[in-house]
Amino acid sequence: MRFSTKAVHVGQDAKDPTGSVFVPVYQVSTYRQAELGAQSEYVYSRTGNPTRTALERAIAHLEDGNHGLAFSSGMGAITTLLLSTLRKGDHVVAVQDLYGGTRRLFNQVMANFGVEFTYVEGINPKDFEAAIKPETKMVWLETPTNPLLKIVDIRASSNVAHDHGALCVVDNTFMSPYLQQPLALGADFVVHSTTKYLGGHSDLIGGAIVMSDDRLFDKVRFAQNAAGAVPGPWDCWLVLRGIRTLAVRMDRHCTNAAVIADYLTKHPKIAEVFYPGLSSHPQHALAQRQMKSFGGMISFRLEGDFDTCKQFLNHLKIFAVAESLGGVESLIEHPSSMTHASVPKEEREELGVTDSLIRLSAGIEDAEDLVSDLATGLDSIK
Ligand SMILES: *Cc1c(COP(=O)(O)O)cnc(C)c1O
Repeated sequence: MRFSTKAVHVGQDAKDPTGSVFVPVYQVSTYRQAELGAQSEYVYSRTGNPTRTALERAIAHLEDGNHGLAFSSGMGAITTLLLSTLRKGDHVVAVQDLYGGTRRLFNQVMANFGVEFTYVEGINPKDFEAAIKPETKMVWLETPTNPLLKIVDIRASSNVAHDHGALCVVDNTFMSPYLQQPLALGADFVVHSTTKYLGGHSDLIGGAIVMSDDRLFDKVRFAQNAAGAVPGPWDCWLVLRGIRTLAVRMDRHCTNAAVIADYLTKHPKIAEVFYPGLSSHPQHALAQRQMKSFGGMISFRLEGDFDTCKQFLNHLKIFAVAESLGGVESLIEHPSSMTHASVPKEEREELGVTDSLIRLSAGIEDAEDLVSDLATGLDSIK
């Protein structure tokens, strides 16, 4: 079965006596046991719930993995993954251009438990090699990175991890499984914030982990139940409903982003555009190899400063100034004061997250309307 068919069908064949064509919301916490000592598939909804099982099967298939697990948020998924695979004294090498919340969890929570983190640019797989120590148990990537949309070579990085007996994790939130499948490129785990493209409608918070190795699955599955960061049935159902239209939504996100990126590169008030689909992107060839298309995220630098950005953002009517991404509606934000405000200023500058940087998530509206909205904002800059 090909991707678009799987997205509409896998996990969604409700074994329901009514013959409903989609999975119902099993809004229930516990299950009657047929008789004392009888093994039942479902016992208690922290451990398992049929709506959640449907979602977990669907996500696993979309990533071409053997096992999927759903969580109450992307951070819940990431926390559970770290808790189940690392212990005191272990070391993790991560790309520096990382989702702010992940970095905060690493540095301000996990570090208290004796796990150590080193950050590298990751554009050259040798960056990971150089940071690896005998204690290194994990290599953590996001690609494209956030917010500068650099591309990390998944196959090369997972080879480095495996050469040193470490696991490779890819946060695939920015791409969704439709555009990039890290397990096929050698990763051991894929994590998602399903809040973003998988859910796709800015109406829920959720997370997921996909893996193929049975032993790793047993560990993470155990921790999912033990730590309990599980999603409720309604949120599982909403993610599953989002997944049914993932392929068509992603196609539109990509074509809209390509039109916008092209427009921005030609505009005199824009200093620099970051989009892996541009032939001028330094890693365009790797992006073409590793991704099916280039995604819906674009960053750019305005000629100007914080006040220029404010002027521009204040004049937009269709783009909502908001954190998050991956919804049907276009969103735009100012990383240095919003998503990346928790990163210390010197580190931000080093990462290239300057006050003139803007990041946008192209929605599925009409591309011409989106371009004319941006044009209005740019015209407002004196
Ligand atoms: C949003 C996001 C997360 C965190 O997910 P939540 O659902 O907000 O907890 C992790 N990684 C990336 C890349 C994200 O964009």
